Amino acid sequence: LLTDTEGLSTTHLTVADKDGMVVSYTLTIESTGGSGIVVPGYGFILNNELTDFDSQTPHPNVPESGKRPRSSMAPTIAVATDGSVFAFGSPGGSTIITTVLNLAVNAIDFDMDLEDVIAAPRISQRNGGVTQVDQGFEQSALGQALTAYGHQLSPVDELGAATGIFITPSGQMSAVA
Ligand code: GLU
Repeated sequence: LLTDTEGLSTTHLTVADKDGMVVSYTLTIESTGGSGIVVPGYGFILNNELTDFDSQTPHPNVPESGKRPRSSMAPTIAVATDGSVFAFGSPGGSTIITTVLNLAVNAIDFDMDLEDVIAAPRISQRNGGVTQVDQGFEQSALGQALTAYGHQLSPVDELGAATGIFITPSGQMSAVA
């Protein structure tokens, strides 16, 4: 059962060829079916990304002529000084930003294996009163410690749908979704 309206339609692809060339690609037309309008003669559907504007003024993200709405998409390729490469990303609307940060911290700061980087429970605090967490995280020692500090943890069905590829300096690749 999907209870969150974000992240239902966007996809993140991470691909690499045998030479280690990588692409990190978040693709979206916002909602499933986008605007529902197909361009005559071309056959592709127009997006409905205008929903990424914030209609409440005053706000820097209000719809105005010549403006593009805020986007959270963050396809990422990180290259280390030893030549290793970590390419990754996720759908999830505004939770993309925190998912990508979660993945980067797990990989770069905690030096976790790629499978653990992707599988680790994620948390998403986006300047609101409530912090979304992967189900079960709120029961963990860390979750309970955060609750004791006054954080309101709200378990959700899904935070992102991350994919990533790690390439060692010698060219060995691992891919996890
Ligand atoms: N339209 C969203 C954005 O650009 C991405 C859509 C999604 O991931 O759900 O932030």
